[in-house]
Amino acid sequence: MQATLMYGAHDVRVETVPDAQMVESADALVRVTRACICGSDLWPYNSMPKSDVGNRMGHEFIGVIDEVGSAVSGLKSGDVVVAPFLWSDNSCDFCREGLHTSCRHGGRYGFDGVDGGQGEAVRVPEAQGTLVKLPVGEDSALMPSLLTLTDVFCTGHHCAIKAGIGPGATVTVIGDGAVGLSAVLAAKRLGAEQIVLMGRHADRTELGQQFGATEVVAERGEEGVQRVRELIGDDGTRAVLECVGTKPALETAFGVVRDGGVVSRVGVPQYEEGPIGLDTLMRNITLTGGAAPARAYIEELIPDVVDGVIEPGKVFDKAFDLDHVPDAYRAMADRKVLKALVQL
Ligand SMILES: [Zn+2]
Repeated sequence: MQATLMYGAHDVRVETVPDAQMVESADALVRVTRACICGSDLWPYNSMPKSDVGNRMGHEFIGVIDEVGSAVSGLKSGDVVVAPFLWSDNSCDFCREGLHTSCRHGGRYGFDGVDGGQGEAVRVPEAQGTLVKLPVGEDSALMPSLLTLTDVFCTGHHCAIKAGIGPGATVTVIGDGAVGLSAVLAAKRLGAEQIVLMGRHADRTELGQQFGATEVVAERGEEGVQRVRELIGDDGTRAVLECVGTKPALETAFGVVRDGGVVSRVGVPQYEEGPIGLDTLMRNITLTGGAAPARAYIEELIPDVVDGVIEPGKVFDKAFDLDHVPDAYRAMADRKVLKALVQL
């Protein structure tokens, strides 16, 4: 079968790899129908050291089940399913707490002999706990929005949940990438009233406004902090959603947050040390967030997607076929494409 491999920075190839096949009785084989490229795939795209063997890529996909193992119940061949970006048993103590990202029997696609999502098929371990059956056909027009439930929209939703967003909330969202825009939409869905979006790419912040942003702040750094405080009030914002993952973005978050407020951050942090010290710790700020347990949210979010209440799939601004995945990486890294859909 064909699948995507990364051999180093700016070196992504689609190659023939061994066909996905069943290994454990808890596995399912999924024929991938839609996949996508994550903002987190761009960090290795810009920095990965050269490798002779290459890494299998992709962790966001929807597909049709080809085969299920003898230990899997509730799923069968032909089911259209969405896969959260990590697999998990949905039954251990962490999963029961809704923290599937810490599952005792979970893991990541593309590692340890498990296929990546940017390919023709994937062996999904712990299939019964991981895969969620979709109430639509494989070519439904809803596919782009349903595909966001694998990672990007659930990540924005998680960011908003951890910040405690509810009806009437005032929120500042930092970042106009696909996660930041998803966080805007999630905050709006949860009832936020004032949503300030910090971002400087006009085409992206425009989508942010469609998603519910009430104001856009293009300035960055200290200037951006001042601008947000002008809009929201000198005290700052009770809830800040940091959706970039860089140290300057975290500094901005601490700059705009109100004393006693919450900074919720998602995405893969690109720093080992942050501005944690006298200025932040004495202000009674809560710092929270982390990898999003997408599996915990998918079933709850599907109805709003199916009913058209939210359309998170608008973050996809270009579709590519599998052969052109290397072009899709380049386009996203060059910021010509916000989020690339892979259509198989
Ligand atoms: Zn678990």
